[in-house]
This record gives sequence, C-alpha cells and structure tokens, in this order.
Amino acid sequence: MAKKENKFAEYDISTQAVHTGTDYDQETGAVRRPLHMANSYKLPDDLSQVNYSSTDLLMYARNGNPNQHWLEEKIAALHGAQDSIVLASGVGALHALFWTLLETGDRVIYPNVSYMAVYRMFHELFNKKFGVETVMVDMTNLEEVKKAITPGTKLVHIETPDNPTNGVTDIAEIVKIAHENGAIVSVDNTFASPLNQRPLDLGADFVIEAITKYINGHGDAQGGAIISNDLETMNRIRYEAQVNVGSVISPFNAWQIFRGSVTFPLRMQRINESSQRIAEWLEKRENVTFVSYPGLSSNPGHEVAKKQMKNGYGGVISFGLNTDDKTVERFCAALKVVTFAVSLGHDESLIFPQPSYDERILLYPKKFRNGFVRFSVGLEAVEDIIKDLDQALKQVGL
Ligand SMILES: *Cc1c(COP(=O)(O)O)cnc(C)c1O
Repeated sequence: MAKKENKFAEYDISTQAVHTGTDYDQETGAVRRPLHMANSYKLPDDLSQVNYSSTDLLMYARNGNPNQHWLEEKIAALHGAQDSIVLASGVGALHALFWTLLETGDRVIYPNVSYMAVYRMFHELFNKKFGVETVMVDMTNLEEVKKAITPGTKLVHIETPDNPTNGVTDIAEIVKIAHENGAIVSVDNTFASPLNQRPLDLGADFVIEAITKYINGHGDAQGGAIISNDLETMNRIRYEAQVNVGSVISPFNAWQIFRGSVTFPLRMQRINESSQRIAEWLEKRENVTFVSYPGLSSNPGHEVAKKQMKNGYGGVISFGLNTDDKTVERFCAALKVVTFAVSLGHDESLIFPQPSYDERILLYPKKFRNGFVRFSVGLEAVEDIIKDLDQALKQVGL
C-alpha cells in the first residue's frame, strides 16, 4: 500500500496516537472510521492492470484491508518511521521478516535469551529446514558479538529488554558492529514499546512490535508489526510474506488494536511509573532473591538502558523468590488483584512463573534458574498491586 503522509509528524507522540490514521468516514461523516469486515472488494472494470499479488489495490482481505492500513499509519507514526506492516501476531511479524530476508547459506546471529518462538525458529526450524546458519550469542556482551560476527553475516536479531529476563542490549553498539560487517539489524521492541525506545532512531533497520501487548493494551486482540524506513524490503515483505504466506490480520483485530493504541502513551506512562515503584519495593522485600528491571540502578543494564530508553523502563519486572517451583505456583495462585496468566502489557497485571525445568533455563544467567517469575504490571492502583504481592508472599510463608 502506498504510504500516506503523516500530517501530525511534528506533534508529540500522545497527539499522534490520537490523530494519526483516523479521519471522518467519507460516506456518513461519522467521526470514527468504520470496521470493514469484507473479504473482497469490487474490481475495476478493466482487469488488465490488476496485479493479484499486490497490496496497493483493495481486492481481497489477504492483500490488505482498510483497518489494517489505518493501523499501519499509526504504528509507523509511533516509531517516527516511514512504513509499517501489521500482521496477525507478533510471531507472524517476526516470521515474515526472517522468511523474507533469509536464504539457504545465510548466517544469522540471535540472542541466547529471546521470545520463545524466536528461539524455536532459529534453534530448530530455519537451520534444519532451510539450511540457514544460526548462531546464538549473549547480546548483552559486545565482545561476544564481535567474536561471532563475520563479514558474510546477513542478520543480527536482538531483543531489548529481553523476554523473560529483562537483559539490556546496547542497540547503537550492535548496529555499529553489524553494519561494519554488512549485516542487517532487527530489534524486537515489545518490552520497551515506542514510548520508551525507538530503535530506528538508533540506526536499526527493522523493528518488531508484538502489538498484542502494550499498543493494544487491553488483552483482547492479537497482532504484530514490522516497522522500517527500508521501503523496498517492506514491499518485498508484503509480497513474499503477507500475500503469499498469509499471516494477515483480521480487520476486527486491527480495529480493536487501533482503538487501544489511542491511549497507549497515557497507559504506558502510568505503567512505567508503577513498575519503577514496584521494582524498588520488591528489591527491599525479604525472600526476593533478585529483581531484574532496567530502571533499577542495581541492574547491570541500567547505564545502557538510561542511554537508549526515555520516559521509563517498561512494565515487566523479572524477579526471583527464595523457594521451589511448587511454592512459586502457589504464590501466583494466591494473588487476588494480579491475574495468574501468560502474556504482558494488558490493563490487568499478569504473573507467569518460569519453572526451573524449562529447557531454556540453562541459557539464562545463573540467578534466573530458581524461583523465577515474570511479572507484567497493569493499570491497577500501585498500592493495591504491592499489597497483593505482599499478602500472597505471606500466604506461602515468604
Ligand atoms: C509476546 C511477544 C512476542 C509475540 O507476540 P504474539 O502476538 O504473541 O505472537 C514477540 N516478542 C516478544 C518480546 C513478546 O513479548
């Protein structure tokens, strides 16, 4: 789809979140844009010019739909970027990018701590199915990255802060190392969100957001986005991965996420503030063995986070309890305000234990191998969240 000019580009991100991608409905004058659930659109009388793999013409829902396109305008604006592609899930967006960029014989460097599906794609799928050389590296250690990179490396994929340990990777330094070797850099920005971190401004080539999380923010729709200024590759992604592989977003989900995105900066600011307070409280609480949150000065990634993040440090706190897997589960189940469920970035706080028998646990720094939980701070009153954590810890004898 040809990109529209962002008329609000000079304004603050909060103003853009409200106004970009929206307009009066041409037919009715309604101040909200409609939801178009149609699968197909009326064809032009002359078919000779129609390209059935194009995303420029509204023709069939897999080639694109208006709700998707309006959301793409908004997501690009949030990153100050020229283009974004919105797909069915965060993993769909990651796959679309990797699928388009990589060919047999290419070399990829990926982080030892990353979203589960990235680990699966590079640890057991792209390498075995397609002969892509995949090299796992601790991205928080730049010396290791320098050792692993070769002039023929195609892609360096990073995630910062990472899921689930909250490790921080220096985006600008990774970009420098990668670009010196002719490699492309993609950054999974889901934990930070565009209010707190904009990797394209730091030189990255592609950004991935699981918009299922903070940008939707209400736990009721799944979606993913690729954001970039490389318009040529973005159009290849549309052709190779959206139209011809098919991870297109449903118009309803795009509509839902568009609605959520309006309040995204406001929600994120609140989540930043609450998370900082809760992380500081947890750090002082007995029987909490460690707290990994980039906003804490005790955090090994704090200096880098301070340099590349603004407004705040996000809404996920990774912490450890001085106990066994079973008691961690009982603690999660004893919470009343916080919901015991996977995912993050919802209106409600969510908690998810990372058991010591997870096959990836040995890839994490040592302190994460026991009593580890991933906590996603929500919009409840911060005092209520803290009280809830405290009562549940007491209930299980901690
Ligand atoms: C959730 C998440 C994803 C995947 O998004 P889905 O919408 O669940 O497919 C990717 N990366 C990170 C860091 C995530 O937290």
